[in-house]
Order: sequence, then C-alpha cells, then structure tokens
Amino acid sequence: MTRETQFWAILTLLLLSVFCTGAYAQGQTDKNPFPVTWLGHAAFEITSPGGTRILIDQWLKQNPQTPAIFKDLSRYHPAAILVSHSHFDHSQDAMEIAQASGAPVVSSGDWVEKLGLPEEQQLGCNIGGTIPIGDVTIHVVPAMHSSEPSGRPVGFVLTFSDGRSVYHTGDTWIFGDMAFIEELYHPVVILQNVGGGYWGSDPKIAALGIKKYFKPEVIVPMHFGTLPPLAKEVDVLAAFLHDTRLVVMIPGETRHF
Ligand SMILES: [Zn+2]
Repeated sequence: MTRETQFWAILTLLLLSVFCTGAYAQGQTDKNPFPVTWLGHAAFEITSPGGTRILIDQWLKQNPQTPAIFKDLSRYHPAAILVSHSHFDHSQDAMEIAQASGAPVVSSGDWVEKLGLPEEQQLGCNIGGTIPIGDVTIHVVPAMHSSEPSGRPVGFVLTFSDGRSVYHTGDTWIFGDMAFIEELYHPVVILQNVGGGYWGSDPKIAALGIKKYFKPEVIVPMHFGTLPPLAKEVDVLAAFLHDTRLVVMIPGETRHF
C-alpha cells in the first residue's frame, strides 16, 4: 500500500466513524424511552418522549385491579383524557378527573357533548379524526363493539414526534381494517384487549389479529382477569405462546418502551 493509498484509507475510516457515531447519537436522542403505566383493566397512563401525559379509559376507583394508590384521582394531571367508549369499565372516572384537572375529554362526539363539560374540555371526535395534544398526535380508529347510551366505540393510536406509535385497541373483535391501522401508523407498542368472555376478542383471536395485521415490537395484553367472564392470565400466556414480544404487566407497573 502506498502512502497516498494509506492516507485515503485512514481518512475514509475517520469520516465513516464520525458519520456512524453521529447517526447513532441522533437515533438515540430522537427515540427516548417513554413510560407506560398500566392502571388495571383498559386504563393506562402514557407519557410521550416530549413529556405529554395521556390518560386512557379511566376506570380506577372501583376497578378491582387498580392498586389503592392509583385510586386517588387527585394524582392525575393529564394533558388529555381519552375514552374509547362510554361503558363504565372505560369511562367511570373520566368526568371526575376532567373536573379536577381541567383536561379535555377525547371521545366519540355524540357522548362527549352530553357530559356537560365546558366547551374547551370537549374534544368530540370520530373515526379518522386527528387530534394534536402537545407533542402527541392522536388518531381515532375503528373498534368493533358498542357504546350505549351514546357515541360509538373507537380505538386510539398515539403518534409521537419521533415517529413511533402506540395503539390502544379499546374493546373490539378482530376486523379487516386493522390492516389500514398498520399501513398508516405502524404501531410499535400495541395495548391489546384480550379479555373475550361475553364482550370481545378472546386471547386466541386477539393473537390472530396481531399475527395477521401487525408487526409491533411490544404487545401488552389488557382487559383480562378483572371480571368473572374475562380470560385469565394463564389463557393469555397460552394464546401468545412463544411470542417474545408479549409483555404481561402488573397493575400499577410502569415500563419504558
Ligand atoms: Zn370493556
């Protein structure tokens, strides 16, 4: 190797190492871990990498899975309160938290407008809606369920400024339009209803939905073990056998993804 060739080889290596280190650092800073706390049943508190707190499906005070410390509603100061549908096990404490915190309620417009909240706290939405909250963009997606006495059931995709998305399925059965949720938002974390019983996808059908339509890095099962007809943890583990992406959380636990 001549001196000139050596010079260019060393220069190339140096430039490569500077570029790779920079790209790696950029990737690290762009994708800070974000905390997800499971509050039991379908209730979650998620804080975006930019610090925006989102509460979803607040059934806390009478939720048998919710640890006592998390039943104190004065502890919550969310930027927004998301309610997938009006059934008690998703909405029961939404009003009290909204009144105490002043946070807006994001849910089916037909239901939100009946709550009697000040106008600035009403963020009624519908399928296909996009709602910016801080550094989070909330996409409203379908859910196959019901929502008496009013409104319609939805799911939520939370997209962060780093491009990552979290999908909370709400209460639903498997449906073909899940393919569009994957195509549009590529959720890296799916908070998946697996409860079955009388009301929705059982763990095997939930696992089939993930396998058929999604490519997440993490699957967090929810809406199980709370009420007698719902699936138990052993059923969930059996249905997702060998799927290393499954993360079974303990109510009250926080994980960073
Ligand atoms: Zn439910």
